[in-house]
Amino acid sequence: MTADFLQSLRSILPPKAILTGDEDKAPFETDWRQIHRHPAICVALPENTEQVAAIVKLCGTAGIAVVPQGGNTGLVAGGVPVPDRPQIVLSLKRMNKIRNVDPIGGSLIAEAGVTLLEVQQAAAAAAKMFPVSLAAEGTAQIGGAISTNAGGIQVLSYGSMRRQVLGLEVVLADGRIWNGLRSLRKDNTGFDLKQLFIGGEGLLGIITAASLALSPAILSRATALAGVASLDAALALFQNLRAQAGDAMTMCEFISASAMELSLAHINAGRRPLHAAAYVLVEFSAHTETASITAVMETAFEAGLTDAIATDVIIAQSERERADLIRIRETIPDAELSEGGAVKHDISVPIALIPQTIRAIEALIAEKFPDCRPNIFGHLGDGNLHVNIRPPPGAKLQSLEARKAAITSAIESIAMTRGGSFSAEHGIGQMRLAGMKAHKSEVELDLMRALKQALDPKRTLNPGKMLP
Ligand SMILES: Cc1cc2nc3c(=O)[nH]c(=O)nc-3n(C[C@H](O)[C@H](O)[C@H](O)COP(=O)(O)OP(=O)(O)OC[C@H]3O[C@@H](n4cnc5c(N)ncnc54)[C@H](O)[C@@H]3O)c2cc1C
Repeated sequence: MTADFLQSLRSILPPKAILTGDEDKAPFETDWRQIHRHPAICVALPENTEQVAAIVKLCGTAGIAVVPQGGNTGLVAGGVPVPDRPQIVLSLKRMNKIRNVDPIGGSLIAEAGVTLLEVQQAAAAAAKMFPVSLAAEGTAQIGGAISTNAGGIQVLSYGSMRRQVLGLEVVLADGRIWNGLRSLRKDNTGFDLKQLFIGGEGLLGIITAASLALSPAILSRATALAGVASLDAALALFQNLRAQAGDAMTMCEFISASAMELSLAHINAGRRPLHAAAYVLVEFSAHTETASITAVMETAFEAGLTDAIATDVIIAQSERERADLIRIRETIPDAELSEGGAVKHDISVPIALIPQTIRAIEALIAEKFPDCRPNIFGHLGDGNLHVNIRPPPGAKLQSLEARKAAITSAIESIAMTRGGSFSAEHGIGQMRLAGMKAHKSEVELDLMRALKQALDPKRTLNPGKMLP
């Protein structure tokens, strides 16, 4: 059967676009954290929408599942095969063209395999800005970012990926192509179908291209790292700065003392810029060329320092200094991975409850898992915390295997009892299925299953993900 299938696939794709060797397939079969791995029959690398459609149709007929994959930077192992039916990985990486840029309308059309960074660069070349920014942006692709509704460090001002999408081109599970690549700001003509595929994690269709809204270019910005004495002070600083800067505050990130340690240990010659109990990384941005943005930030921080909300602050004086500050935040996930990894969580709570949420988590770990080390950081400005629990010093991550479910369930409960979410920006994939079962209502799950049944009755697309 596999030989017949591969034979048929060769009538759609040239040989170089079908990977069957174990070594060639391995990077596509393994998730970013290198925890989940399962073999695929092959990796298919189409270069246009018609090829994607033909492959999906062939797989549907042959009873073979299709796992769509972008940059494979997802943190819930949603883009790699699972033990289910025989599967192929369909990588969108060769669909990497920007089809059109419309500077007047403020939009561009990118194929699914274009990276977030390439979209940012294309926007900049048109004197515009694409605001979704995250540490994996050089590898994460538009299709993957839309399918996970990715967030990142500027959600505070610009929203997550969902807010940037004007239209989509999607290959459906039966192989039909839906051309919904409209770039309109207004279009009330029935259900807004694109929303089904945004955050859909490849269960309802394969995104092959997207029309994306561009924002006005940022012409000046000021970036600062502040030290704070307590979690309450971090929240007060956020409130204080936000009140003064309003929408000009485009980033507000939280870095715990342990996350700072971890990051600096992995940055070459990474000297500690400040000493504090916790840190807040802030950016103000303006769409006009103005030197005063730094003055606005300095004034804003003066009040914070006077009121003893911030203990110390560094305001970047050059692009190089800005990059150094941002790097501290962006290095945390890689540093954690190279130190052996952690049991990861991606919770959100109402912003006002962040201090008490972190305190509850720290108390939980101290009481129930005292040998473990919490590594907490995240997007303070939108209520999203990455709560990662590292094994005891010198121990491997596998040593937490027996306690992993209990740790996760306790942390998710802390978020849920505060009106939060157990998965704020990474999605469900195969890693948060227990959370879906525990926390989603039967009504919500029924509705999701009904949509899956209507759009993909043969379960061709990404089985074993999202829906328990
Ligand atoms: C260092 C690091 C930092 C990160 N920081 C953030 C952050 O700040 N905010 C955040 O939200 N995420 C973050 N992530 C997670 C990740 O980068 C995002 O989820 C990203 O959007 C995934 O894009 P990708 O192209 O790598 O998708 P993949 O990992 O390849 O796939 C993700 C999911 O989308 C599906 N998919 C992929 N392409 C398509 C397509 N064309 N059509 C349909 N389904 C598709 C896959 O099947 C899978 O379910 C980070 C990851 C890393 C490694």
